[in-house]
Amino acid sequence: MILVNRGREITAVNRMAREIVGVGEVGRDLALTMRHPRVLAAVEAVLTGESTVSEEITLAAPTPRTFTLHAARLAGAGAAHSQAAAAAVLVLRDETRAKRAEQTRADFVANASHELRSPLSALIGFIETLLGPASDDAHARERFLGLMRAEAMRMARLVDDLMSLSRVEINEHVPPKDAVAIGAILQSVADTLSVRAEDKGMTIALDADANLPFVLGDGDQLTQVFHNLVDNAVKYARTGTVVRLVAKRTERGAGGGQGVSVAVIDAGDGIAAIHLPRLTERFYRADAGRSRRLGGTGLGLAIVKHIVNRHRGTLSIESKRGVGTTFTVVLPAAPSVGSTSQ
Ligand code: ADP
Repeated sequence: MILVNRGREITAVNRMAREIVGVGEVGRDLALTMRHPRVLAAVEAVLTGESTVSEEITLAAPTPRTFTLHAARLAGAGAAHSQAAAAAVLVLRDETRAKRAEQTRADFVANASHELRSPLSALIGFIETLLGPASDDAHARERFLGLMRAEAMRMARLVDDLMSLSRVEINEHVPPKDAVAIGAILQSVADTLSVRAEDKGMTIALDADANLPFVLGDGDQLTQVFHNLVDNAVKYARTGTVVRLVAKRTERGAGGGQGVSVAVIDAGDGIAAIHLPRLTERFYRADAGRSRRLGGTGLGLAIVKHIVNRHRGTLSIESKRGVGTTFTVVLPAAPSVGSTSQ
């Protein structure tokens, strides 16, 4: 909030405004600090008769921030005739965060629509070919139906992942309450994905400490976390390699107490360091062509990150080109309900 007199000199600022106009600016012309033409026009308007003016403005320094600006004449201020008294008030509301959230939402809808549109366009193309030129061609029909099934399944996977993501986001602030045996979850994930691994000549090796503590968790969600990580390892690692799942008891670090760390280690080509910080963003892919060819939705790691956040855990990614990638999830242990024998 900034007050100016009828000579446009600053008469008072609150603490937040001081960050924008700077300390020690009281007594000086507002135009020396805020050169934004729309701000000055709004002040001019209220000082010369308008009662209020509202604007949206972007201030470039120190980093670009978007504000709504409300300028108002201070009504009935008899003292406003004196040069020293405040004659107008400027209220600036920082909307940067809200704007960014709005942009993220808009990008997400655009990305999701685009991801759904591609298989849909392919399906429409196949249907038209089957109705037209290939209507009497049994061989083409069979081939196209196979391709159509693959495209439809891609859409189904995408819709399933979008629904998972929205479910996780809805309850992200509600911490899970059950004591969960992580070893059993890892075993079931390894069993489920071993067939897919075998198809690539790969194996999944589980190495879990005996007497791992229970973790405070949601069994279905944790299954999804490790399913997504192991599925990626199988998808992106080289044929014939081993995916290692290593679960250990750990001091949780930041939180202090006991925890369980689970590392999913693959011997793939690795991921270039430049991608690592953005890997858990929705639809972010290090290699988009490869992901799509392998049936990826680009949402797996975003789902992992949100579930881990809900569990007050951490996710770290280490990767070395040509050597492989390790995803490590650390989860806090459930408060002393004993340990599991796994
Ligand atoms: P996708 O459905 O594309 O696999 P994810 O969100 O699961 O989406 O992963 C995002 C991207 O991270 C992938 O497209 C891939 O480029 C990269 N990635 C994930 N896991 C691995 C891995 N184990 N090895 C190499 N790259 C990986």
